[in-house]
Amino acid sequence: MTNSDLYHIVIRSAAAYILSAIISLIFLITTYQSYARNVKERQPAMVEHAKTLVDEKVTDLERLLTETGRNLAAVSGDNIASYRTVLDFARRTGGFETVVYITGGKIYADGSGLDADAIMLRYEEIQAAESGKVHSIENLWEEGDLFLLFPLQITKEDGQSGTLAAIYDCNALAGGSMFEELHPQSACWLIENEGKILSYHANSAVNIVQVPSNNFFMQMYDLTEGSRNSKSRVQQMRHAAQTEAMQSLEVETEKSHTCLIMLCGLDQMEGYSVATVTDLNVQNSFIFRFLRKTILMLLLLFAVSATAVLFIWIYVKGVTSKMETIAYADDVTKGKNINYFRKEVANILQNHSETPYIVQRFDISNFRYLNEAYGHMRADDVLKACVDIYKKVYSTKELCVRMDSDQFVTLTVNDSDVNERREQYMKEVNEYTIANGITYPIRMKYGIYQLRKQDRDVDVMIDRANAARRSLNGNEVESVAYYTDAIMRNMSKVNKIESEMQQALDNGEFQVYLQAKWDIVNDHVAGAEALVRWIRPEGNMVFPDEFIPVFEKNGFIGKLDFYMLENVCKKMRAVLDAGGVIYPISVNQSRVLLHSPEYIERVRTLLETCRIPKEYIELEVTETALFDDRDRMISVLRAMKKEGIKLSMDDFGSGYSSLNTLKDMPFDVLKIDREFFSEAVTSDSSTLILHKIIEMADGLGMEVICEGVENEQQVELLRSIGCRRVQGYYYAKPVPAEKYIQSYCEVMEGVS
Ligand code: C2E
Ligand code: MG
Ligand code: MG
Repeated sequence: MTNSDLYHIVIRSAAAYILSAIISLIFLITTYQSYARNVKERQPAMVEHAKTLVDEKVTDLERLLTETGRNLAAVSGDNIASYRTVLDFARRTGGFETVVYITGGKIYADGSGLDADAIMLRYEEIQAAESGKVHSIENLWEEGDLFLLFPLQITKEDGQSGTLAAIYDCNALAGGSMFEELHPQSACWLIENEGKILSYHANSAVNIVQVPSNNFFMQMYDLTEGSRNSKSRVQQMRHAAQTEAMQSLEVETEKSHTCLIMLCGLDQMEGYSVATVTDLNVQNSFIFRFLRKTILMLLLLFAVSATAVLFIWIYVKGVTSKMETIAYADDVTKGKNINYFRKEVANILQNHSETPYIVQRFDISNFRYLNEAYGHMRADDVLKACVDIYKKVYSTKELCVRMDSDQFVTLTVNDSDVNERREQYMKEVNEYTIANGITYPIRMKYGIYQLRKQDRDVDVMIDRANAARRSLNGNEVESVAYYTDAIMRNMSKVNKIESEMQQALDNGEFQVYLQAKWDIVNDHVAGAEALVRWIRPEGNMVFPDEFIPVFEKNGFIGKLDFYMLENVCKKMRAVLDAGGVIYPISVNQSRVLLHSPEYIERVRTLLETCRIPKEYIELEVTETALFDDRDRMISVLRAMKKEGIKLSMDDFGSGYSSLNTLKDMPFDVLKIDREFFSEAVTSDSSTLILHKIIEMADGLGMEVICEGVENEQQVELLRSIGCRRVQGYYYAKPVPAEKYIQSYCEVMEGVS
């Protein structure tokens, strides 16, 4: 997971949470605003409804009791069983606790099993109660109990009179189902108008009554404790309870709550009312609490997710920074690597746009020696010291990293003492102790590119500094070179060559020129060397020095060399087919080509296809190519030798050839370099060396050819020291293959 993935997750989840919280909040606010208004508007109708239900119930009970009275009156005599049947029926139908008939000091009761004697003891009270009206009766069976009493005086047909008394549970009259439709934040009472509570029911969501009391108004005083005004209004309500059918009162309770008290007198139970108290504070409402919980939950979820994301972020950051450390570290110097340089230079340039900078590329010219003399570990320590000392000498606005092997690149401020600081740096690197107090002169070659304002591409800067450094190749005096226009022109020339080379090859712009080699003993042509010429479409000829080094660097030389070999073979075939004479032709082969694994096979196939006897082809390998990966080169050359292909060592004497090279590498021909040979002509000692080399080559069974022979005098000298063959302008210049064929191959008609 990348930083940006994480960023998107965080943004999206945060947006989702915030959106849900906003929606809940809007819902909450609208709920809050409409809640109290709704309650106040709807509650009177609900209270009215509850009151109607109670009234209807009382009416039903009274009707039932009147019917029971009539049935009792119809019983003749004191027929206990009939009384009981009638009373039982009434109790069951009406849901009474018990129904009794008291007459002549006797009590007849239903089969409920309740203590009828207790009722008998209260007979006077019951008899005194107004017949046909509902009363309350206390402490009937137990201390503190409270029931409704339905008394009815009856006179039987036989003239006997008595009292029918039905005891009803107050809670059953005004039970939960009656108040179901009241607001969930309501409590409801059935009270006597003086406040005595007959029944109480509170919806589950509310707890209004805090101090239990058996008087409703006492509870209301308690509820409005702390608000004098509210208390006196409750008092007024109490007084008006007798007279007004419906009263409503909004009171402040403690904790700044607002409650709506409603009182509604019952029609069927004179002196009794239904009372309700509703909490108008939305905070206590179910929906409000639900929303609050939702928001809390969302916040909690948000916090949990945020924590999780934070942890993941910290983790990813950790992993990323570890990966970055690995990606940007250089194992050898323990500093940063080129990737870091690329990234950091862009940053530095952005933050210090006014500071003049240079990019320096330097290498240690004699690093190979350090490696060989002191071993890899110590040599690596020198590389590390290069970075460490840079940090010491330069500021934090400057950078130095190792690119690879002994190559370094720096971003350095181009201030007035930039040269002194470089001197100082080189001095300190040179003072670095390689081993046991040994310091070794470390030679550095610097290529410097001065940054311009518009420069952004770090690789281009490095390339330019490198081009400047390369311009010092072969220059043992200078150690610092700046990137100049000339270098720039050279670079663009290289770019042009590279962009056109493939097409030029496809178009046949690379042409075979042949330079004859001469047998100076018999004064006769002895063969030729194939030399490439690039003939541009407009007819300009480009010499190999311009493009061969470029191709050697980019590897294209492999293609070109094989192309040349192919063309030479084809031309030879054409000469043979035309009945002409051929002489051996040598073709220059680069190191890149020799190293390719299928090279020998390709050469063999080519010679077979063109049916060219192997002795007519000679492959030239330049002396300098032999030193890189010497062992591999020896094995390739030996394999070629085994194939019967003739090999010649080109430019012998131009580099650091050792006699060992001659011994180990199976060359058939030794081509003495032009420079080496021209020196031999002017100096006696060089003549002697050349003489001995020719003798030695003879001894080893090798042919010798001297390159660059330009005059008669040189020919004479070579003859005198035993050289048989030469190649040079004196005898022949490189000419188009066709011209060579015309001159030496004895074909009548032109061969292409
Ligand atoms: P080289 O293989 O040593 O070729 C001999 C070079 O010396 C040729 O230069 C030739 O024209 C030049 N030369 C011959 N006789 C004289 C003389 O008497 N005086 C002077 N001043 N120069 C003489 P050229 O053709 O310009 O080639 C230069 C080099 O380019 C070659 O040196 C060879 O290393 C490379 N080269 C040329 N063609 C090819 C090729 O097809 N493949 C590869 N890999 N290298 C090639
Ligand atoms: Mg050559
Ligand atoms: Mg040569």
